[in-house]
Amino acid sequence: MTAPRGRGIALGGFMGTGKSEVARRLAEATGLPLVDTDAVLTERYGPIERQIRVEGEPVFRERERALIASLCDGIPRVLATGGGAWCHAESRRALDACYDTVVLTAPFEVLAGRVGEGSGRPLWERAAELFRARQAAYGDAALHVDVSRGDPDDVARSVLSGLADPDRGRQIVPVDLGDRAYDVVIGPGAFRGLGERLVEGFGRRRVVVVTDSVVGPLWLPALEEELRRAEIPFERVAIPAGEPQKTLATWARCVDALLELGVDRSTPILAMGGGVLGDVAGFAAAVTLRGLPVVQIPTTLLAMVDSSVGGKTAVDHPRGKNLVGVFHQPSLVWAGAQTLATLDPAELRAGLGEVVKTALIGDPDLLELLEAEAPAVRQGAPDLIRQIVARCVAVKADVVAQDEREGGWRAVLNAGHTLGHALEAALDFQGLRHGEAVMIGLIEETAWGAARGHCAPDLPERLRDLARRLGLPTQVPPVDPARVRRALRVDKKGRGDMLVLPLPRMPGAMSLVNLPIAQLDDLVPERS
Ligand code: NAD
Repeated sequence: MTAPRGRGIALGGFMGTGKSEVARRLAEATGLPLVDTDAVLTERYGPIERQIRVEGEPVFRERERALIASLCDGIPRVLATGGGAWCHAESRRALDACYDTVVLTAPFEVLAGRVGEGSGRPLWERAAELFRARQAAYGDAALHVDVSRGDPDDVARSVLSGLADPDRGRQIVPVDLGDRAYDVVIGPGAFRGLGERLVEGFGRRRVVVVTDSVVGPLWLPALEEELRRAEIPFERVAIPAGEPQKTLATWARCVDALLELGVDRSTPILAMGGGVLGDVAGFAAAVTLRGLPVVQIPTTLLAMVDSSVGGKTAVDHPRGKNLVGVFHQPSLVWAGAQTLATLDPAELRAGLGEVVKTALIGDPDLLELLEAEAPAVRQGAPDLIRQIVARCVAVKADVVAQDEREGGWRAVLNAGHTLGHALEAALDFQGLRHGEAVMIGLIEETAWGAARGHCAPDLPERLRDLARRLGLPTQVPPVDPARVRRALRVDKKGRGDMLVLPLPRMPGAMSLVNLPIAQLDDLVPERS
């Protein structure tokens, strides 16, 4: 496939990613010697399962660490390393110094299907927990390669072409807003390279990382490692996770914490988390000392494709969703797709609601891609998801560049949100995830529009079918219709008795329809 390389390749990744097979092919292709660390440890000390059971995992890990240290001697090889080897920070750093580090990656569901229970592999009983815990260590590699589709030959080819690509598969989508312009960086890894971008933008100024109580334990270690590598001093602020916490009280606590840390007007805030965290931390950054720079680091699909881009920040109010907030554009958005590996699959699917919306607004080919690849998209195949993120960001960046503050056209981004927000509020922000509410909103709003000649007649059924195949809800859940109607009346998009309803005539062709709010009452299904 290619000429022998001067530098070795170290492969890491979870059980079932096929490291040994791929390493063998890479060794053949590059002419480098092959070492499989699990095979060496088995040969020296007996079966790994027995070493772990009889002598204990710490003994095995120490043997693994010592072996890896001995292999970091400047001689280029292809290494297949054990699934847990990278959790040792010292091993990871040593590997990184001597080898091009490559992580083979796939959603847990895919690997579980391959390895499965009863496989006899040591540690498999706690596989799901281990998978989550190890992602921060894997996030740091120089290259991430999706193994969820394709055979080991394809994967080996992707490794070699990925290593030859100076951008390592990273894509940059600019958001063109004149003196507030910024980049959205979408990459297959987690945070590697972010440090350099921060130094370019802010020098080595102290930063404050704001994250939530779920994302922090999973991803702070990897982000902090990147900040240390770039010699950027940092502090941390944690807020509670989840939509019910997206309140003025949480926002005020976040502002308090920033002030207590003695931030000044040039202190960048790194907002790492989903849409809720990005909204709360973005709003806190916007008002503290009349505005601090914010870098959005989205870690949910929804936040990557939508909420981190465009500068809207807000918190919910008992009277409705996102009723208190400001516009505050980020200085940079860093979407490291590997962070999605720890996301609950139901959250990933919910994010697909905003993806369908974005495709409907501005990328009809993306809608077709979602239809053609629904099973792989639903599972979260990393390469597909990255492609989807980049396309959605491009659509959103284009809309935002035309109308930054929603004077008109930006309202198209609210497709599905009129009913969606009202349902969320009527369910006290607990019954539906935001992306799920948007998907139901898209279906019901287009059905309403199709019945009145605003939308193509086949569109509601097409959306319902796609939602079903993507694992999204298609029906309004049980809810008090009177509460939904009341919530519709406090929609931010309302002007007096009128409301702008964005409706797709067909995919890629939106209209903004001005309506008396009372006409929307029949959007609310009576069956609820
Ligand atoms: P979320 O932020 O509540 O995240 C969902 C859950 O996943 C949370 O518990 C979170 O802690 C957890 N999580 C996040 N990243 C994780 C990871 N990598 N691994 C494991 N767990 C992780 O929900 P969301 O769907 O990301 O965002 C929804 C919010 O976004 C809503 O409040 C919505 O109003 C807002 N939003 C804002 C805009 C905007 O333009 N500002 C646009 C769309 C949506």
